[in-house]
Amino acid sequence: MINSRNINDLQPYVKYLAQKLIDKAEEQGLKVLITSTLRDKEYQAYLYAQGRTRAGQIVTNLKTPTAHGSGLAFDICQNIKGKEWDIDFFNKVGKIGVTLGLEWGGNWKIFVDRPHFQYVQGLTNTQIRAGMLPKFPKIPTGGGGAMKIEKSWQQETGEEAIKQLSLKKFINNSEDWLAKDLEKETVPLWLFFEMFNRFLNQ
Ligand SMILES: [Zn+2]
Repeated sequence: MINSRNINDLQPYVKYLAQKLIDKAEEQGLKVLITSTLRDKEYQAYLYAQGRTRAGQIVTNLKTPTAHGSGLAFDICQNIKGKEWDIDFFNKVGKIGVTLGLEWGGNWKIFVDRPHFQYVQGLTNTQIRAGMLPKFPKIPTGGGGAMKIEKSWQQETGEEAIKQLSLKKFINNSEDWLAKDLEKETVPLWLFFEMFNRFLNQ
């Protein structure tokens, strides 16, 4: 049973939009947590059973995955304990998603699905199940460079972050930096990058 919450399992352009949604929401003080990205048939069947043959509230009307099965959709909740399903939160983030070009399940008439976002560009469920994908725009490069680095250093080693800084020409020679014994630095690496980001964003 596959139920991934890894953003890397999304189609690259959808991953780009998901990341942008998280960033834009954060600018408004909204903490987004991705709860589901890629699903297989077994997991969708398990979800479909909820509220029907299994206890709980009905959460889906689909027996087999469509947008979730092709990495075209993701679900979110609020990253605050006890306020995960706050409607006000979903309405605000939903609005942001729509401005980014995502389709928001909160706008659906038949089955309102507030945690759900997708990028299918009008493809039908049947077309998606048959393996069709929408035409994806090119992922913009550059711009927001500091933001991207901030994300990457959280996930990668200090060594990788320094290589990235060097690649983006923020520092001259990654070898000089790598030669330093980072463990012995008096300023922790994360603090260094935090300061660096602030400097770039001035
Ligand atoms: Zn969903």
